[in-house]
Amino acid sequence: MYILAGIMSLLQYVEQCHDDKIERLAFCPGCGRSKPWCHGCYSRKSDRINSASESLNLIYIQRYYCDGCGKTCSVLPECIPPRRWYLWETQQAAILQFFLEGSARAVEKKVKPSRHTITRWVAWIIVQFNSHKDALCTKFPSFGLLTEPVAFWRHVFDKLSLSTAMRLCHVAGVSVP
Ligand SMILES: [Zn+2]
Repeated sequence: MYILAGIMSLLQYVEQCHDDKIERLAFCPGCGRSKPWCHGCYSRKSDRINSASESLNLIYIQRYYCDGCGKTCSVLPECIPPRRWYLWETQQAAILQFFLEGSARAVEKKVKPSRHTITRWVAWIIVQFNSHKDALCTKFPSFGLLTEPVAFWRHVFDKLSLSTAMRLCHVAGVSVP
């Protein structure tokens, strides 16, 4: 998987796809061979917020095939998480709200995901704290001053979006959901 930096919203991505401005994959992320083959697209229903009449779905994701290592590679815009339905933006809003309110039951009244989903996201961000922190501190040493997950992420969200933080973790080799 390769993540396109700086594409922060689905609308921005859809417009860039429409104008054929999506960056082509120059190197295979697996073996480094240049110019992997563009191997078509697949679609995802990443818009889970807008109503049916305003929905941006389907969202097309480029796929590449590398002759060197025989692997395929998807190219995702930064705003879409690899293995979760809701965009990073929605997850960030829910997680931050949970930190403020302290209960998923209170948060689910304000955001679309259910309290079970919100609880799962919060558990993940707390359990993975050390690996996320280590990855982000290589780029932002000052984040190392925060030694507890809630204070850490509240500080990170002041500087970076969750999508950017997760892109940096992915580049650093940390598995991103
Ligand atoms: Zn390769």
